[in-house]
This record gives sequence, C-alpha cells and structure tokens, in this order.
Amino acid sequence: MPLTERLLLGPGPSNPYPEVAAALVRPMLGHLDPEFLDLLDETSQRLRAVFRTENRLTLPVSGTGSAGMEACFVNLLEPGDVAIVGVNGVFGERMCEVARRCGAEVVRIDAPWGRAIDPQRLLDAQAASPRARLVAVVHAETSTGVRNDVEPLRALQGTDTLVLVDTVTSLGGIPVEVDEWGIDACYSGTQKCLGVPPGLAPVTFSPRAVERIGTRATPPQSWYLDLGLIGQYVGSARRYHHTAPVTMVFALHAALGAVLDEGLEAAWARHERVGALLHDELPARGFRLLAEAGHRLPELTTAWLPEGADDAALRKALLETYGIEVGGGLGDFSGKAWRIGLMGHNAREQNVLTFLAAVDALV
Ligand SMILES: *Cc1c(COP(=O)(O)O)cnc(C)c1O
Repeated sequence: MPLTERLLLGPGPSNPYPEVAAALVRPMLGHLDPEFLDLLDETSQRLRAVFRTENRLTLPVSGTGSAGMEACFVNLLEPGDVAIVGVNGVFGERMCEVARRCGAEVVRIDAPWGRAIDPQRLLDAQAASPRARLVAVVHAETSTGVRNDVEPLRALQGTDTLVLVDTVTSLGGIPVEVDEWGIDACYSGTQKCLGVPPGLAPVTFSPRAVERIGTRATPPQSWYLDLGLIGQYVGSARRYHHTAPVTMVFALHAALGAVLDEGLEAAWARHERVGALLHDELPARGFRLLAEAGHRLPELTTAWLPEGADDAALRKALLETYGIEVGGGLGDFSGKAWRIGLMGHNAREQNVLTFLAAVDALV
C-alpha cells in the first residue's frame, strides 16, 4: 500500500502539528517511569493553560472525545438524577443518550439544527428544576457549525447545579475560559483543534465537581473511567489503574507546547482569520452558509452545496484527485451540505486557497 497523504479538512481528525509527528517516534517509556510521570504532570499543566483553569483535577482521559463525554457524565450523575441538556445537533443528542444510560432523567432543551441555543432557556430550565444535578451544553456543535454561548451559564455558580461543557471542537480553536465562565466539568478531544491524532480526551473538573464525585452514594458505573481511581495514578499516589497511552501523551504534550509557544490568543486569531476567509469566499461559488450568523464557528464551516451539485461525486473527486477530505452533512443536511474543518495545524490561509482552487476546478 502506498503511503497516502491527505489534507484533512473535515470535522476531524485534522493533520497534526509537525511537532507531534516527532513526538510519536520517541522511544517508549514505562507508564510509571519518573521521566514519563514528569512529562504527564507537565501535560496536565499545559492543559490547565489551554483550558484557562487552576483546576487540580485536569488530565488526559484515555480514549477519544467520546470517552471524555462518558467520563464526565458517568462520574457526575447517579441513577435518578435530573440532567438538563441543550440539544441542537448530533453531539447534544449523544449527551442525552449517555446521561440516560447513567440512569438520569433527562430534560431536553432543543433548538433547531443550525441555530444557537439561547442560554436563558437553559437557565430557565434550571430555575424550574433547581434539583437538577447538571446543565450540559456543546460549545462547538460539529454537526452544524454552530457556537453555543456558554458564558451566561456562570449564573449557575450560586446553585447546586453543575455546568458541563463539550469543548471537543472548540479547545485550541476559539476562546474557552473554564474558570472565568464558571464551567465545572469540561471535556475535549485531541483530534480537532489541538492538532493531535485521535486517542486522548483532556478533561478538567472544578473543586465543586470534585466534591460532587467524592460524595456519590454509589460508585460510577464505569470502572475504567472512574476519576477517583484515575486520580490516584495522575495524582501523587501514582497508583497503577490502567496503562497510560504513553505515546499519545507524548503527542499531546508536544502539540500543547506548539500551541502555547505560538500563544493561545494567536492560535485563536489564526482560526478566526482563516474561517472568515472561507466564509467570505464560499458564497461567490454558489455555496450558502448554513449556521446562524453571529454563531458561526471559524474552525468548522457548514455550507449548503450549490444548486444541483452531486455531494457524493464531488467529495469523491475532491479526495481522489486533490487528496482533500471534507465532511458530508449529517441528519437532514445529508447530501445537501458540507462540513469544512480548518482545525489546529490546518487553520492556514494556504489550505483555504488550496481547497477553493480545487472547488473552482470541480464545481
Ligand atoms: C468529535 C466530537 C465528539 C466525539 O469525539 P470522538 O473523538 O469522535 O470520540 C464529541 N463532541 C463533539 C462536539 C465533537 O465534535
């Protein structure tokens, strides 16, 4: 098999930062080797910088973004708890399913796909169910290209309801302010704007979320994702729980180093700039932007295809002739819209121009 290279402009994975490729071939270390443990500590420290938090319980969970989602719900919910979930796309829907499997009673707050969720509706739902254990929302809905406002949920700090946020497609691409926005639990993934292959799920938990975990009446349903046990390995006890994916931690450490060397604000600005360039250029080619104006993600653009365009044939030609991958639409958007990612290392003007040149040749 030839080694095929692709320009991954879909909804993830993205092409890793060059620093990551070097980290992936580092000699293996044991998961209890002092050198590895130092590197793991530094990785958690770098994650705190990127999440903008002082939270002690900040670490990479083994597994992709979905493992981070499960880790948050399974540790924070007990059977019979009420969970309020905002839903305006695939990942909000998935949160409901995971919460239900934890035995929770789910209160859904739906908004049409392509539009943002009014955070006041989440606050109102909590006021109507003050016993709710958490309010969960997806910051960057990768299925629709919409950014949901998270900051107003800070108002829940004075209640017994925790705020849980999915930042899988936002972390490293657009501002995420865990402490300033009063987020209690937050998970992400390595394969989107962090520019690392799929395989780890950074998470962070506020002191009140840690207290919630510590006062559960029942142990979490998942042994593998039990943060009390994982915390004993990542924390000072260093007790073996499961073998850390050592090479993936090397990769994440390197990518976070690259992002912090560039400067987090500079990385956000780079995503903003290239996303705006794509948004400006697509309409002239017959594409119509799908996500609500004012809530469009720069790192993941959704656009209706030009009238009469053949989705499958175009994406096949884009992949086979130009080596460029983009994502198709999900749900009602299937066959009608594209999802174009400019994430992490891929958020560069050159990639936008390459993509547009290929579109000009094909459409
Ligand atoms: C990709 C994604 C996930 C799931 O991550 P996986 O790495 O596919 O497990 C969860 N939430 C959002 C918003 C995503 O974009």
